[in-house]
Amino acid sequence: MKCGMSARGLLLISLFASVFAGSVSTLAQRQSVPAPATTLPVELLTDLARLRDAALSSDFALRQTAFLCNNIGPRLSGSPQAARAVEYVAGQMRDLGLDVRLEEVMVPHWVRGAETASLTRFPGMAQGTTQKIVVTALGPSVATPPEGLEAPVVVVSNFDALKQLGEERVKGRIVLFNVKFDEAIQDQGSGTEAYSQAVAYRSGGAIAAARLGAVAALNRSAGSTAFRKPHTGSVRYDDGVVKIPAAAISAEDAELIAYLAAQGEVRLRLVLTPQTLPDTLSHNVIADLKGSEFPEQVVIVSGHLDSWDLGTGALDDAVGVATAMEVVNLCRRLGLRPKRTIRVIPYMNEENGLRGGVTYFQNQRSNLANHIAAIESDLGAGHPTGFYAHVVPAALPMLRPLAEVLHATGAGIVRPVPNSVGADISPLESAGVPGFAPITDTRHYFKYHHTPADTFDKVDPRHLAENAAVVAVLAYGIAAMPQSLPR
Ligand SMILES: [Zn+2]
Repeated sequence: MKCGMSARGLLLISLFASVFAGSVSTLAQRQSVPAPATTLPVELLTDLARLRDAALSSDFALRQTAFLCNNIGPRLSGSPQAARAVEYVAGQMRDLGLDVRLEEVMVPHWVRGAETASLTRFPGMAQGTTQKIVVTALGPSVATPPEGLEAPVVVVSNFDALKQLGEERVKGRIVLFNVKFDEAIQDQGSGTEAYSQAVAYRSGGAIAAARLGAVAALNRSAGSTAFRKPHTGSVRYDDGVVKIPAAAISAEDAELIAYLAAQGEVRLRLVLTPQTLPDTLSHNVIADLKGSEFPEQVVIVSGHLDSWDLGTGALDDAVGVATAMEVVNLCRRLGLRPKRTIRVIPYMNEENGLRGGVTYFQNQRSNLANHIAAIESDLGAGHPTGFYAHVVPAALPMLRPLAEVLHATGAGIVRPVPNSVGADISPLESAGVPGFAPITDTRHYFKYHHTPADTFDKVDPRHLAENAAVVAVLAYGIAAMPQSLPR
């Protein structure tokens, strides 16, 4: 601990050691690169502190979030609201004097129809009744016949259990994947891990069930149990496997069916009438605050403009778009012009296709060296404790001064990660572009994620402002640093 080595420095080193232990050869190759500066010019540090403080007292991001959610509404790809959101955000960015263009993206156009479910037979039922089940179609689920389908339900707790049942006990039935969302993991702040465990059954359930002859696939909502809400989301189909209707039911209803099915036959009637229309022309918005010295070099700040249709896409992801918009708003207000370009990208179609992120990447394939960093906010706007950094170890010392600036708001952690930190920016990250995202408190995010309750009132103004502070300091810091980040 002598030689001025701080506890934080040691922590960072031990983090690289564990995170990057697998890439020794890459590390050795990079050891010839001169050690980058770990301090920043005093003027820049002062500007970063001003940005941070201005973010905390600004309500611009909150007002943008409100407009996207309350005035425009749900923004499913291909919908009139998604198109309106493109126009609106582009207009706001033009009003700030940015260079704005719309990038064409062909998006899937899936439209939700009627969705109802009921139990028509179960042990102990009163004659002449049915029991309502709260259900929502997954995108791009195929429809049932207009009058619905009715079949016995078979309940499984994982893919292996389904396989063990075999075709004989699955064929002609509705499979319910009753996989609990792990609230204990969520409550410790790792909501994303709980989600990634549960989401496998939402996205892969229809293929697995159809392979054994099932007529529909239901999943227990991939989100925490509360107030009998269904969580929608995307489902995958495979060209070689029959496409069967796929829907999520509330956690409470999954519990109910599992209880009854343990006692005897349970039959369910399912009506889903969604439609898959031809792909539609939509757009990513690309808005540049041009750099003063290296305008061709780009630091992306982003979120996704589309949302699911049940709520109004507040936490997922109006807040992410609004945070990115706030970064350039603050730079304008404070008269800050970065050396490198800060590019705001509200991506289209993250939720049910990722076409926006993929299209941008394809169009920039020959220009990747000029992409200095990509930041995406797509994990709600809970209190941030710092930022994820998908970077090479040599970049970490350069990020430390930014973390110091954010330390004052409780957001001083730099967490190196070996994988992508944002869906839309993941193609860029795979090609070596450094990726960043705020580390948000996700203890509440998956209560609302993809549900009718993802609405503006769930946004905490203070926490949103704190997220804007993180992204603003990160983006401007990287865009204004003397050297660009190593990769
Ligand atoms: Zn999202």
